[in-house]
Amino acid sequence: MTTIQGHGASAGVTCGPLYLFRRPPAPVYADTAEDPGAEWARFKSAQTRASLQLAGLARRALRQGGQKAADLFETHQLLAEDLDFEDAVQRSIRLDGLTAEAAVNKSAEQFARMFREMDDAYMQARGDDILDVGRRILRILSGRAEGRLELEWPVILVSDELAPSETIQLDKSKILAFVTEGGSANSHTAILARTMGIPAVFGAEGLLRPEYEGQEAFVDGETGQIVLDADDETRDALLEKQQVQARLAQLLRALKGQPNRTLDGRELEVVCNISGPGDLPAVRANDGGGVGLLRSELLYLQSTVLPGEEEQLDFYRSVLEPLHGQRAVIRTLDIGADKQVDYLPLPAEENPALGMRAVRLCLTRPDLFRVQLRALYRASAYGNLAILFPMVSSPWEFTACRALCEQVQRELTQEGVAFCRDVPLGVMIETPAAAMMSEELAQVADFFSVGTNDLTQYTLACDRQSGQLDQFYDPHHPAVLRMIRRAAKAIHRHGKWIGICGELAGDVQMTELFVAMGIDELSVSPSQVLPVRNTLRSLDSRVNGPRLLEELGE
Ligand code: PEP
Ligand code: MG
Repeated sequence: MTTIQGHGASAGVTCGPLYLFRRPPAPVYADTAEDPGAEWARFKSAQTRASLQLAGLARRALRQGGQKAADLFETHQLLAEDLDFEDAVQRSIRLDGLTAEAAVNKSAEQFARMFREMDDAYMQARGDDILDVGRRILRILSGRAEGRLELEWPVILVSDELAPSETIQLDKSKILAFVTEGGSANSHTAILARTMGIPAVFGAEGLLRPEYEGQEAFVDGETGQIVLDADDETRDALLEKQQVQARLAQLLRALKGQPNRTLDGRELEVVCNISGPGDLPAVRANDGGGVGLLRSELLYLQSTVLPGEEEQLDFYRSVLEPLHGQRAVIRTLDIGADKQVDYLPLPAEENPALGMRAVRLCLTRPDLFRVQLRALYRASAYGNLAILFPMVSSPWEFTACRALCEQVQRELTQEGVAFCRDVPLGVMIETPAAAMMSEELAQVADFFSVGTNDLTQYTLACDRQSGQLDQFYDPHHPAVLRMIRRAAKAIHRHGKWIGICGELAGDVQMTELFVAMGIDELSVSPSQVLPVRNTLRSLDSRVNGPRLLEELGE
């Protein structure tokens, strides 16, 4: 039996085969070949496989994200089969004596240049698509694994690190657990694992060994243990734990339909953090009261080109409509730091977490922001929308956001497009500055949501991405909790509401304190809705509340 100890990042016990994921290095290939006939045959076979892969991806995207999501892969399939592209490859092979790889590379670059020189913005964007198609054919020619993971059966995915953009593209039904050698339980990848309800362990050093490939292992996402070749006693104990968890989940299901009310009658909203429409079934299954945080950047991370207004509208609408009037708080684009996209290269920064991210990027690039705000306002006609701005630290940033919203509303009115005129606009309290300025912010914003993940990072000056700092990254630190209390008092003085959407919201040890502070809403991963409800329903805020507040101070 071999036990590897990591840090538990998403609870749950699971067992299955290990799948070791290593990013393939860029393929190396010769430029010229002796036998053009053989090279042409290699190209044709790779082209057919690329086309089949793309058709499969389009079907999956259609199921998970609707027609707009499928469009991209359908376009790629058309490009892979394009006769002009094929002719260019053939000429390079037959006339210039190039290998299939060199011919694909040359033709893709030539076509990309041609597309980019066109006047039409749509055609210009096809330049990136043809390069992506070229890379796909090259990967197939070199016999290397897909950059985007295609799994055939459910596995425990083991990797050195996983970027949020890689995680979001995985087929959840094929992942039993995530295990990484590096990473931190506070990273976005860990948050995504919790949102998906998939066990995860980070910092499991020594698991990426070729001899472990395909071996059966147990993963305990709570204790952070990975067990290979478990002896009978350990196997029985882990299976027992799995059953206890299943029984507990069954008991919690009895709370569906019950109010989130304490014994002394205090009621809170308990809503969900989601990544997109694909998470709505989990919201429903766990009886979430709506969506308290949709991280809209996940749409951007899933795409290979900047999502346009129509695609964004479809995405937001597909979240709002099925909620039938329950509120969805959609957060505007929060990329930068660990969330990067290739098609929007951001300047290299010494301290990206303190750099050009979130609302700073949006206010610096109003061209990007305007497209998102237009899509959001158009989507507001289909449900109960609230818009939330991330990483605000000064009131002027929020008022600049509001001004852009008003401009978009004027445009839509002139165009005769339907939208809701009183979409609430909120501020995330995730910088110490926002907490300290909550009095002023409460005078201009309609509602607030505390992002405890970043609030902890910035209050404690402690990088949430670093696995080595886990013992210092403490969201329970009084400095963080006092910030929340201070903000709650100021915000309530102005008659506004305040929720918490960082990971701390789902920590049931904190529920009693949050009730005592008067927090109005807790937004948690879908699997935490019923545990939080259970805790709320078993507490009486008069018993410990006053003491907890006194101990906290502030
Ligand atoms: C937070 O910082 O707590 C938050 C909810 O935002 P994110 O985790 O996406 O940075
Ligand atoms: Mg944040």
